[in-house]
Amino acid sequence: MSHVQLLEPLGLETLAIRSGQHRSAEGEHNDPIFTTSSFVFKNAAQAAERFTTSNDGNVYSRFTNPTVQTFEERLATLEGARYGIASASGMCAILSLCLGVLKSGDHVVASDNLFGSSISLFTNILSRFGIETDFVSTTNVENWRDAIRDETRLLFAESPTNPLAEITDIRALSALAESAGALLVVDNCLCTPVLQQPLALGAHAVVHSATKYLDGQGRCVGGAVVTNSQEIHDAVFAVLRTGGTCMSPFNAWVFLKGLETLSLRMRGHCESALTLASWLESQEGVGRVYYPGLDSHPQHQLAASQQTGFGGIVTFDLSEPSREKAFAFIDGCQWLSITGNFGDVKSTITHPATTTHGRLTQAQRDQAGIGEGLIRVSAGLENVQDIQAELQCGLAAARAA
Ligand SMILES: *Cc1c(COP(=O)(O)O)cnc(C)c1O
Repeated sequence: MSHVQLLEPLGLETLAIRSGQHRSAEGEHNDPIFTTSSFVFKNAAQAAERFTTSNDGNVYSRFTNPTVQTFEERLATLEGARYGIASASGMCAILSLCLGVLKSGDHVVASDNLFGSSISLFTNILSRFGIETDFVSTTNVENWRDAIRDETRLLFAESPTNPLAEITDIRALSALAESAGALLVVDNCLCTPVLQQPLALGAHAVVHSATKYLDGQGRCVGGAVVTNSQEIHDAVFAVLRTGGTCMSPFNAWVFLKGLETLSLRMRGHCESALTLASWLESQEGVGRVYYPGLDSHPQHQLAASQQTGFGGIVTFDLSEPSREKAFAFIDGCQWLSITGNFGDVKSTITHPATTTHGRLTQAQRDQAGIGEGLIRVSAGLENVQDIQAELQCGLAAARAA
C-alpha cells in the first residue's frame, strides 16, 4: 500500500532507479531490506493510533513493510499509477484483484489465450464462489462486446498473449468497459511498463508477475496490482491486509534491483527477439513465426500503436509439425535452458503443447492454436549470434529427425 510521490517529468530510466526510496537516518545509498515482522511504537497511544486509523506508519509486515513499499511505489511510478500493491506471486496479484473487486453473481469476460493458471483461476476456483467467466477471442473486439451482460463487472485481458503473441486492442476494450460500467484489467507481464502502459491506454488496473521480466534473472516469485483508482486500491489492499497475500521483503528487494536495469534489459530482449524472429522467417524448416515486431504479424500496426517495443518472446511452428521434430529441435540445442519460464537474461526454449499447455485437452489446444510443432523461445541477453547458432543446431537436428 503505497501512495506514490510523483517525480515527473523524470524519464522512465531515472524513475526505475530513483523512485520510491525513502532513505533512513543511516543515510544508506542502496535500498535496505527490512527483515522484520513487526514494528515498535513510541508509546501505547501511538500503537493505538496505528492500529485503529489508516494513518501512515508501519505496523506489521503483512501489510506495511518499507522494502515492499519501495517496490510498490517504484513499479506504480513506472506504470504511471498512484497506487501499487505487491503480492506473493503473479497469480496472487490476480487472485487479490478478483477477491477485491468481484462478488458472487458478478460476471467476467476474459481472453481465451490468458496465462494457463489465470484460466484455471476463473474456471475452477472463482466459479465456486458464484463468479462466472466467459472466454472470448483476444483479438476480436466484437466478441468481447457480445459477451458483456448486465452483471459483467470485469474485462480481463493479456496483451501480447503467450505464446502466440496475439494483441488486444486495449483502447477499444477500455471504451467497452466504460460503457458497460465494468473494469478493464490488463496483465502486462510480457511488456512491462517499459514497453506498454495500459493505464494510459484506458485500463483501470494492471497486474504483473514480477517473476518474469521485472526480476529478469530467475530468482524470485512475486507479483503486483497497480491502479489510479483509490476504490480499486482500497478493495485490493483490504484483501492483502486481511488475507495475507503479501510479498516478502527479501523478494521485494530483489525485484527493486531488477527494476533498476529493466529498461536496458527490455531493449536488449526486444532487439535480440526481432533479430531472431526475422532470421527464423527465412529459414527452411520453419513455418509461421509469431512475433508482433514482424511486418507479417497480422496485428503489427496495433502492437506498434500501443507498445514502444515488441517484447522478447519469439514463437514459431516447424514446417513439419510433429512432436518428434519439435523435441529433436529442442534437444539439438546445446545450452538454451529447457524450462517453462521466460523473461530471463538466460534464453529459454519451451514446447508449449507438452509443458505450459500440456494439461489442456487436445481440443482445447487445437482451439488455442498450440500445435505439436510449436516452439517458444524467450530471447535472453546472451550474444544474439550465439542464440541464433543454437537455433541453427535445433533446425539441423529437427531436419535429421
Ligand atoms: C507467469 C505469469 C503469471 C503468473 O505469475 P506467477 O508469478 O508465476 O504466479 C501471470 N500472467 C502471466 C502472463 C504470466 O506469464
